[in-house]
Amino acid sequence: LILSLLVGCAPKEASAQKSLFCMDTVMDLQIWGKDCQEALQALETMLLELEKTWSVSDHNSLLSALNRGEGKPNGEQQAFMEKAMELHSRTNGAFDPKLHHVVALWGFYDKNYRVPDPQELALALQEEAWDMGAVVKGYAGLLSTQILDRYEVSRAILNLGGNIQTYGQKADGTDWNIGIQDPAGEGYVGTLAVSGAMAVVTSGDYQRYFIEDDRLYHHILDPKTGIPVNNGINSVTVICADGTVADALSTALFVMGLEDGLRLWQRSEDFEAVFLMKNGTIYA
Ligand code: ADP
Ligand code: MG
Repeated sequence: LILSLLVGCAPKEASAQKSLFCMDTVMDLQIWGKDCQEALQALETMLLELEKTWSVSDHNSLLSALNRGEGKPNGEQQAFMEKAMELHSRTNGAFDPKLHHVVALWGFYDKNYRVPDPQELALALQEEAWDMGAVVKGYAGLLSTQILDRYEVSRAILNLGGNIQTYGQKADGTDWNIGIQDPAGEGYVGTLAVSGAMAVVTSGDYQRYFIEDDRLYHHILDPKTGIPVNNGINSVTVICADGTVADALSTALFVMGLEDGLRLWQRSEDFEAVFLMKNGTIYA
């Protein structure tokens, strides 16, 4: 009886929540525990710093400077760039963090969409310049878990523009349930149960696209051709303890297609994946 009274009287755990617009997308941060406010502040500072560093539209960003042949990354930034290049090799070039000129040609930065002609594409493919768009939100998830480790917080759930980063477990000790969006509708095709520090990242053809002459052009490009990938995949979700890897791989598996993607999964130990095909088939 005393125990139940004590439990009944226990003060509710402190929590902090914030939504912000960052990296051209909406982010939702929710943190529980004694230091939730301080941790929230630290996460926000990190996110804004990452945006400032890797922005494609801000001429003062490190990324813009690097693409002009100027600027010098610090140790941490250098390590992130090297990790991106490792993921480039690991995916046989399907994830390519240097597609800046090609992405710009299609108008995905300024939303001045247009279909480039083949000569323009061939030229743009030869010019290498950084675009961390396919990996920076996942990297933000990884850095978030490292920041949360430094505070007294019991759990957190972060939605970094569709990249979900979990931390700890739900209050009742059960797993987090992360829904995989139905590309064709409003609901979810299913949920994934995850616990601890885990990244659940989806790349799909239904998030950023434009339509011209009845054709849909989305923002995940085949680095070999510079053209939006069209291989029967609607979305790929990757679950991985490392957010950077999850983000790069969700983009890469989308580009590689089901067969090559499954082969990469088979010879890897660090991630799981869910493919939603346009014909409705789900491979998990
Ligand atoms: P989102 O950022 O919408 O979550 P992705 O992580 O798949 O989706 O990243 C897509 C973005 O990455 C594009 O908007 C573009 O800037 C860039 N990009 C497009 N194709 C590739 C590719 N094959 N490899 C790396 N980056 C890419
Ligand atoms: Mg990605």
